[in-house]
Amino acid sequence: MTAQPAPVLEPGLDESALLSINLSALRQNWRDLARLSAPAICSAVVKADGYGLGLEPVLRALQAEGCTTFFVAVISEALRVRAVSRDATVYLLNGLAQETPAGLAALGVRPVLNTLAEVAAWAETGRPAALHFDTGMNRLGLAPADASRALELARRFPLSFVMSHLACAGDPVDPLNARQIAAFGAILGAFPGVAASLANSSGIFLPQRPHCDLTRPGYALYGGNPTPGRANPMRPVVRLAARILATREIGAGEQVGYDAAWTATRPTRLATIGLGYADGLPLSASGDPTRAPAAAEVGETLCPFVGRISMDLSVIDVTDAPEGAAARGEWVEILGERIGVDDLAERSQTIGYEILTRLGRRYVRRYVGG
Ligand SMILES: *Cc1c(COP(=O)(O)O)cnc(C)c1O
Repeated sequence: MTAQPAPVLEPGLDESALLSINLSALRQNWRDLARLSAPAICSAVVKADGYGLGLEPVLRALQAEGCTTFFVAVISEALRVRAVSRDATVYLLNGLAQETPAGLAALGVRPVLNTLAEVAAWAETGRPAALHFDTGMNRLGLAPADASRALELARRFPLSFVMSHLACAGDPVDPLNARQIAAFGAILGAFPGVAASLANSSGIFLPQRPHCDLTRPGYALYGGNPTPGRANPMRPVVRLAARILATREIGAGEQVGYDAAWTATRPTRLATIGLGYADGLPLSASGDPTRAPAAAEVGETLCPFVGRISMDLSVIDVTDAPEGAAARGEWVEILGERIGVDDLAERSQTIGYEILTRLGRRYVRRYVGG
């Protein structure tokens, strides 16, 4: 008897969910933001693993597009940027914290200094860094009153730029925008000849155009809408699709999922997909009696999630979808051209930033374009 070869089972070969990341769309988004930012230089914020899409491929694609300046939040991310690129200019948003300035200086990473103590500690290195002033967010950054003392300390190292961060840039009529822009202008008065940076993604689209010398988009690069309430000017970058694992028909009065939280009001066709909250589909995407649930695109029909999202599974009401598209083995789309990250976020009572940064780790990630 000859032994049969063991069947090959590789992760990724026959998975039930797929995240495609379109690096061409990412590059196009950066190009558009760079054009809007000009004459300011456009950087890229790649913190939180490139907003969940994968720091390394995102970094390589943006570098190929001409981006040279990158922002990360923490040291582990700075190390990852350095491992890919020796010459990228890297800023560490969360500042010096406990880290030894010498270690960062040796890596060629530039901290964004957030307190006078950090500025004083960094001055020893004589290496370039940026200063962050808080202009109304009350989160992180030097106080405007620290400007002259900070300037004095910063004479001992090359000051790359002075920055602040907008709290409400997504809402162009919020009066805090004008107050922050004015407060930042006053701080810049103490730093003649020093470059400045204020705008995140949404800041680039503000009517005041507070682009200064360097813009810092993150969310919009990854396809998020920097102009909430208006049409999204960016291209979608992520597509999340899942395969239908099973279908069934239930009658009116039957229930679906944990806690029997949803009851069919008509004879209903259901499709179960292998994607749940462990994959970043928020539990709150289930909706509740007061609120519509999120939807998946089945064929060309938007079909609502029904019942509670489970850890690894969720159920869609496909009664209104064409039968062929709602069959076992067919793919449905949770994020893509039609359903953007902002749409899923809105139906899930969160923001698209959280949707992106919580995208699951266990399904296949495929990078396309680039
Ligand atoms: C995260 C971050 C950004 C990017 O903001 P987006 O809204 O994603 O464009 C810019 N600046 C600072 C200081 C940040 O923390």
